[in-house]
Amino acid sequence: MSRIIAVANQKGGVGKTTTAVNLTASLAAMRRRLLLVDLDPQGNATMGCGVDKRLLERSTTDVLLGECAAADAIVTVDPGGFDLLPCNQDLTAAEVRLLNLPAGREHRLEQALAPVRERYDLVVIDCPPALNILTLNALVAADSVLIPMQCEYYALEGLSGLVATIEQIRAAVNPRLRIEGILRTMFDPRNNLSNDVSAQLIQHFGERVFRTIIPRNVRLAEAPSFGVPALFHDKDSRGALAYLALAGEMVRRAEN
Ligand code: ADP
Ligand code: MG
Repeated sequence: MSRIIAVANQKGGVGKTTTAVNLTASLAAMRRRLLLVDLDPQGNATMGCGVDKRLLERSTTDVLLGECAAADAIVTVDPGGFDLLPCNQDLTAAEVRLLNLPAGREHRLEQALAPVRERYDLVVIDCPPALNILTLNALVAADSVLIPMQCEYYALEGLSGLVATIEQIRAAVNPRLRIEGILRTMFDPRNNLSNDVSAQLIQHFGERVFRTIIPRNVRLAEAPSFGVPALFHDKDSRGALAYLALAGEMVRRAEN
């Protein structure tokens, strides 16, 4: 059965897109069938997969507005071995049009993915850095949420807000929704504050914190400029290996 995972955190720059792209590539390397959905008008996941966001014929925007089927907008990522539903800044306009719909506007993505989701073992959604109608669509479509976070002073505060939102969505529209896990990103073990926040995180969220930690690694930051996941930029880098480890941890967790 296929599963949909939203990568979400209303804060920008915490590693959502890096996680969505590299986790998708890592799971695909483990022979899973993957679809990555770019739901951020910045189109960073699209560019990071080597697809030029300025040249899209069809995108997430058309799909959300019901102007084309998801199957007709999906492209194959090479190298990568996974599929991508790409997007660009047109999605900002779609957001406004979605807000003006009378009803069911938060179910658009769920409905659009329904005809294609069974083709995949996993669908990963890269959310924008906001709790807006786009992220709401992702959380309504998803079975679980993966929350990347940087272990900084204000991170825990932001996290409680997000967890409260997830609880509300579970109660009101999507009873399936659960927390896939909280992922520590851009981690620097030499930083005392990071270690403190990390300890507090485990105290609060226990098993819901992934054991895998994503280190700060320049290869992860460089890879998008080559339009490839880190695995195809430097497969032995600490960053690429960390996302492979995360994929392994998720597969093991799902099997247990
Ligand atoms: P978000 O999608 O949450 O806004 P990004 O994934 O785009 O965050 O990451 C923000 C910036 O940090 C990007 O320039 C990205 O390349 C860089 N980055 C993300 N994760 C790492 C990491 N583990 N090590 C080094 N740089 C990273
Ligand atoms: Mg992003």
